[in-house]
Amino acid sequence: MARIVITGGAGFIGSHLTDTLVASGHEVTVLDNLFTGRKSNLVQHWNNPKFEFVRHDVIESVLLEAEQVYHLACPASPVHYQHNPVKTIKTNVMGTINMLGLCKRVGARFLLASTSEVYGDPHEHPQRETYWGNVNPIGPRSCYDEGKRVAETLTESYRLQNHVDTRIVRIFNTYGPRMLFDDGRVVSNFIVQALKGNDITVYGDGNQTRSFCYVSDLVAGLIAMMQNESFHGPVNLGNPNEMTIAELAKLIISMTNSKSKLRHENLPKDDPVRRKPDITVAGRELNWKPTVELKQGLTKTIADFEQRLRAEG
Ligand code: NAD
Ligand code: UDP
Repeated sequence: MARIVITGGAGFIGSHLTDTLVASGHEVTVLDNLFTGRKSNLVQHWNNPKFEFVRHDVIESVLLEAEQVYHLACPASPVHYQHNPVKTIKTNVMGTINMLGLCKRVGARFLLASTSEVYGDPHEHPQRETYWGNVNPIGPRSCYDEGKRVAETLTESYRLQNHVDTRIVRIFNTYGPRMLFDDGRVVSNFIVQALKGNDITVYGDGNQTRSFCYVSDLVAGLIAMMQNESFHGPVNLGNPNEMTIAELAKLIISMTNSKSKLRHENLPKDDPVRRKPDITVAGRELNWKPTVELKQGLTKTIADFEQRLRAEG
């Protein structure tokens, strides 16, 4: 059993990762400043002596012992990461330096939760790890995209210069229970709108595409990458099942039996036109592939949103 630190562990993906690692008997310490994370995502572990929650901002250094660090701390939705762009950059740069420094000091393995956003609005389709990306350095998404790109550079530099045992994972759009109602991401927006009978806000003509991965598949990929003894990445983790945003809207309307209608709104600046992961590398190096069909995953996600909306009255 390992001592594991998860930064951002009170958030959407981090809390599911925590559930799986705690269930496997590991000692898990979550570091989170609760910007977009919730203690309620972790209450199930409160009385477990192998679990610890530390309210901590990763832009400050921290002294801890661990064998593995999963570094997820960073707001993921455009609404949240654009709320305070300078803070988003600090989180990605200073936060990543602090956690890499911790790993260097204690000899821990480090995994960076990077993103498909490093490919920007891609000129290569589907995106392979070898693609360098098409990113605007001064646009509204740059604090996140460029922040993650420099976090990758830091990770690779600490590996080559300081021999930290690192892993880089590029996560594509992931969805599931515990996403925030108001986080502005497409799956959570559409489910809340459909359940409330409000208009479904499709940005632009709705022909832009994304590929959606269910959170349990993603968590399995993160753990497989951390446990791999020799492969440093980067590796894409996502579901290659590409669809348009308009198709997603119609699917969610039909699955919720909603009377909602589509309402087109302006496409946000620099919104990528197409996105689909090439997951050949994950298959070859990690023997990983997603297993949860979109309808299956949406059924569980819709049930979770319904239950939380009911609880909120
Ligand atoms: P999330 O916003 O739910 O979780 C992020 C967590 O990090 C939250 O608990 C938040 O409070 C915490 N956090 C933010 N800034 C912090 C700071 N300075 N110090 C300490 N904690 C801080 O997002 P998520 O969807 O769970 O994403 C987790 C990670 O995965 C992020 O690094 C994100 O960039 C990456 N990722 C997610 C997706 C996706 O589709 N969900 C896609 C690509 C990459
Ligand atoms: N989107 C939309 N309506 C919404 C929220 C998002 O049409 O209410 C679109 C958005 O413009 C983008 C896609 O859905 O093309 C995915 O957006 P999200 O913010 O979930 O993820 P990202 O753009 O970071 O992949």
